[in-house]
Amino acid sequence: MMWRCHGATNAELISNLQNHNILTSPEAAFAMCKVDRRLFVPDARLAYNDAPQVIGYAATISAPHMHSFCLSLLADYLKPGNVVLDVGSGSGYLTAVFGLMVGETGHTVGVERISELVERSIDAIKSTPAGSLLEKGHLVVHVADGKLGWEACGPYDAIHVGAAAAELPEALVRQLKPGGRMVIPVGTNSQELVIVDKSLDGTVKKTNELGVRYVPLV
Ligand code: SAH
Repeated sequence: MMWRCHGATNAELISNLQNHNILTSPEAAFAMCKVDRRLFVPDARLAYNDAPQVIGYAATISAPHMHSFCLSLLADYLKPGNVVLDVGSGSGYLTAVFGLMVGETGHTVGVERISELVERSIDAIKSTPAGSLLEKGHLVVHVADGKLGWEACGPYDAIHVGAAAAELPEALVRQLKPGGRMVIPVGTNSQELVIVDKSLDGTVKKTNELGVRYVPLV
């Protein structure tokens, strides 16, 4: 599924991701159309390439197919009014998309350890329709260690982790709402994208979805 979905514009990229069945959620596609990837990448000429880009500080903005894949896995948990946590929010691209999906009645929290990236992500988010969520406090991005989650705003319907954890962070599992879902890359040398579903009785089920390559959660 890799590297096939390049577009000449944001809209074309998204439509290619849909045509390849990577982006299967219409709600996610609708939100992605409102968040121009160009605003979140250092090299605007490559903004609509289906490839990751280095954003500095040993971080990368993930490839559009990875963003789409995670959004599709989480879409049912990103309904208007839901509460979502984006750990290792980096460029802020997904945080903005999550924000538009859960909207004003919901709450979106990004956590990123590099303060410069947080500042940059906030500037980029302000240039999108998610900027009003930021202004009104429905979307926030904190400088913090994401392994600890962000307890104050939890529990979360959806948690996305954008960096690979050596082991599943216990605090994040705890902050997942019963009935909620987390998508997290786990592993060091070889990594798997793991889906963590917490049932209403609190039982946690883990499913390995596919092999991936993310920067480490440090
Ligand atoms: N979804 C983001 C991914 C950015 S790369 C995007 O597409 O832009 C992963 C990010 O995780 C990096 O910005 C890195 O600084 C951050 N990170 C790594 N370990 C972290 C930790 N313990 N707490 C918070 N952020 C962390």
